Amino acid sequence: MSQSTHVFHRQLAKRPPVAVSGQGIWLRDAEGRSYIDASGGAAVSCLGHGHPDVIAAMHRQIDQLAYAHTSFFTTEVAEQLADLLVGSAPAGMSHVYFVSGGSEAVEAALKMARQYFVEIGQPQRRHFIARRQSYHGNTLGALAVGGNEWRREQFRPLLIDVTHVSPCYEYRGRLPDETPEAYGQRLVAELARTIEELGPDNVMAFVAETVGGATAGVLTPVPGYFKGIRDLCDRHGILLILDEVMCGMGRTGTLHACEQEGVVPDLLTVAKGLGGGYQPIGAVLAQGRIVETMRQGSGLFQHGHTYLGHAVACAAALAVQQVIQRDHLLTQVRDRGAYLASRLRHELGDHPHVGDIRGRGLFWGLELVQDRAIRQWFEPSLKLHARLKSAAMEEGLMIYPMGGTVDGRCGDHVLLAPPFISSEGEVDQIVTRLRRSLDRVVSDIG
Ligand code: PLP
Repeated sequence: MSQSTHVFHRQLAKRPPVAVSGQGIWLRDAEGRSYIDASGGAAVSCLGHGHPDVIAAMHRQIDQLAYAHTSFFTTEVAEQLADLLVGSAPAGMSHVYFVSGGSEAVEAALKMARQYFVEIGQPQRRHFIARRQSYHGNTLGALAVGGNEWRREQFRPLLIDVTHVSPCYEYRGRLPDETPEAYGQRLVAELARTIEELGPDNVMAFVAETVGGATAGVLTPVPGYFKGIRDLCDRHGILLILDEVMCGMGRTGTLHACEQEGVVPDLLTVAKGLGGGYQPIGAVLAQGRIVETMRQGSGLFQHGHTYLGHAVACAAALAVQQVIQRDHLLTQVRDRGAYLASRLRHELGDHPHVGDIRGRGLFWGLELVQDRAIRQWFEPSLKLHARLKSAAMEEGLMIYPMGGTVDGRCGDHVLLAPPFISSEGEVDQIVTRLRRSLDRVVSDIG
C-alpha cells in the first residue's frame, strides 16, 4: 500500500492506519492489527462488517441496475424499502424521502418544514429553535441548527440564525432537589418562553436529537420532557423534527428512539444504522399531511440531489433492515445493552475519572471528569478525548470520544455503539480494553 498523502484526511497532521478488511465486529489494518469496532465507526455498523446477506443483496442489485435518476424513475428496491420503513414507522408517517446521509436528511427536513408553511399560507414562519450541545451535521443548515460551538464558531457568518435552548442534560442540568420530571418541565417552560419571545406564529419547528449523541456523549431525555415539547408544538402549530440519525434504527433498543418517549414527530431523520455502513444512505420520514399539502399545492418538493434513492444503497439498507427483523436483533440490542451497562458500571462505575455512565440499548456514553465530587472536567488543553482515542487504538479498540463544548467550555466524553451482533465475550473485551486505555491516559497526564 503506497504512502500517498493526497487524500485530504480529517486530521492533517498524521495519516490514519489503513483499514483493509472487516468481519463481524472486528476491523483489520494493513499492518495486520485487529480492532474491536466498539463504536460502529460513528454508530453506523449495526450489523458489523462483512455480513453475507447484505453483500449478496448489493451484488444482486448491481447486476440488475445500479442507478436510475429519480427525476426519471423510481426503482422497485426504493419502493420496497419505503414500504418497510413506513410499515414500522410511528403513527401517521406515510412517506420516506431518501438521501445519502445524515446531514442531507437534516437539510431536507428543514426545507420540508419551510416549504410546508409556505404552502399552507404561513410564510412568515421563518425561525428554527434547536438545542445547545447538539449535533445535526456539518452542512450549513444542519450546522446552523446544531449547538456545538466548536464546530460552528468559524462558520458563524455563513449560518442561518437559529435560536438555541438548553439541552436535556440531566447530569449537569438537573438541580439537586429537583425530580427528573420537574427538570423536564422546567426545560419545556424555557422553550415556551423562547417561543413567546420569537412570536409563536413566526416559528417553523423545534429540532432535537431524541437521544443526544455526538456532542455531549449520549444524553437521554427525562420522563415527560418530549411529551411536554410535543404538546407545546401542537399548541402553536410548530413542527417537531426529531433527528435520529445516530440514535435511531434500533440503536436504543426500539426501532425509533421516540417510541420510548411516547411521542410522534412531524419529521424524523434517520441515516447511519439505516444502511449499517454498507452504503451511504439516509432518509426523512414525513407525516402524511405534510406530503399531502405539497401534493395538493405546488405538486413537488423543491429540493433534490443526484443520488437520491440510489438503488444499491436502497438494496443494502433493505437487506440490513430485513436481517434486523429476521434475526430479532432489537431484542438482542436490549439484552446485550443491559449486559454492556452492567459491565460498564461494574468496571468503571467507581472510577475516579468517570463522572457519569448513561445510555440506552447499545448506545452508551461516559462523561470523563477530573474531579467526580464537583463534576469538574479536565482542562480542555489536555485533549483527553483525543489521547484516549489513540490509547484505545493501541489497545485494538475503536471508541468514539469527543470534547464537547458547554457554554464555551469543553468536557470529555466517550461514546460506545457496538454492533447489534456483539457477543457477551466481545462486550467483556470492550470494557476491559476501555478501562486499560483510560487508566493509561490518566496516569500519563498525572
Ligand atoms: N444528525 C445527527 C444526530 C448525527 O449524529 C449526525 C452525525 O453524526 C448527523 C446528523 C450528520 O450525519 P452525516 O455525518 O451522515 O452527515
